[in-house]
Amino acid sequence: MTDPLELIKPAVRALGHYTLPPRQARVKVDQNENPWELPDAFKDEVLARMRRAAWGRYPEFVPRSLLEALARFAGWRPDGVLVGNGSNELISVVLQATVGEGVAVALPQPTFTLYASMVKTLGGRVVTVPLDPELRFDPAALLAAQREGARVLILCSPNNPTGSHLDEAALRRLLGAWRGLVVVDEAYQEFAGWSAVPLLAESPHLVVLRTFSKAMGLAGLRVGYLLARPELASELDKVRLPYNLNRFSTIAAELALERYDELLAPLVARLIAERERLAAAIAALPGFLPYPSRANFLLVRSAWPPGEVHAALAARGVLARDVSRYPMLAECLRVSVGTPEEGDQVLEGLAAFSAGKTGGGA
Ligand code: PMP
Repeated sequence: MTDPLELIKPAVRALGHYTLPPRQARVKVDQNENPWELPDAFKDEVLARMRRAAWGRYPEFVPRSLLEALARFAGWRPDGVLVGNGSNELISVVLQATVGEGVAVALPQPTFTLYASMVKTLGGRVVTVPLDPELRFDPAALLAAQREGARVLILCSPNNPTGSHLDEAALRRLLGAWRGLVVVDEAYQEFAGWSAVPLLAESPHLVVLRTFSKAMGLAGLRVGYLLARPELASELDKVRLPYNLNRFSTIAAELALERYDELLAPLVARLIAERERLAAAIAALPGFLPYPSRANFLLVRSAWPPGEVHAALAARGVLARDVSRYPMLAECLRVSVGTPEEGDQVLEGLAAFSAGKTGGGA
């Protein structure tokens, strides 16, 4: 008898789990979610629409009205839009469709860890391209990955967990010289004020990924979307599982788009303002230095071991993310931008830690 564990691909056996300890906290700033729940009136409307829908029937094979709403929202064409159960699923779709044994994928490092584990699961090879010492993208180094055989390039902008941002000139340069597929993960795009979407019309090799989990305030409902030229979207669509987005999430996503200007845009503006306030205040604390961020989180360099800072914050009910195991980030923590009240708690925690170490009063 063959032990089924032996049938698990060696590349999968070698992976670690993508997981987080199931910790609740008074101030939860570890997952870059929108800190404000959508109002009850919004939820009631979703529930009312769901009440009228058929629960015993499959959802539409192609959720046409959502695709059309997404196309209007993003400024692209409906036949170039796919939806997924979170953008994670669409990362998986793109990689399943393009990566097989030995296919090389270029990834800036550090970045969102899921890309590399999916590439490895599929038998592909990761060509890592370090960010520069200031943790900015390095377009020349990224292009050089082609010499190592890379044909797929994944760029997360703003980048998780660094907050680094790729500007239009750099992306144009990369698109102009990359002889393969370029995937831009815009999970945090709403906080950056700039998008790669306008480049889709002139870039047949560009795929843009977005999510409802951050700015849109719907992480619990798992909705992501992909934008690409229609012929490419159509090929990727073959890999997508049928009925991947359930009816409830489809209805909620449509309503979020309908109410974006009224409900969500003001929250995004508040989070951007809060990010700037938090960054300035952290920069003023001895021993802590935030990196520039265009996302809804800050990467903070610490003069003391990040694990210690993380534990001290946790003891006060503030759950940050210790990212010190990422390459180049041995001295870093990541904190999501939450409400101003949550920001005050983060600041008080960091100030107390710093004062305890430097002997300053706080
Ligand atoms: N891309 C990036 C860069 C992320 O940080 C995340 C969430 N942490 C995702 C994709 C996945 O988002 P979701 O599946 O919730 O849409």
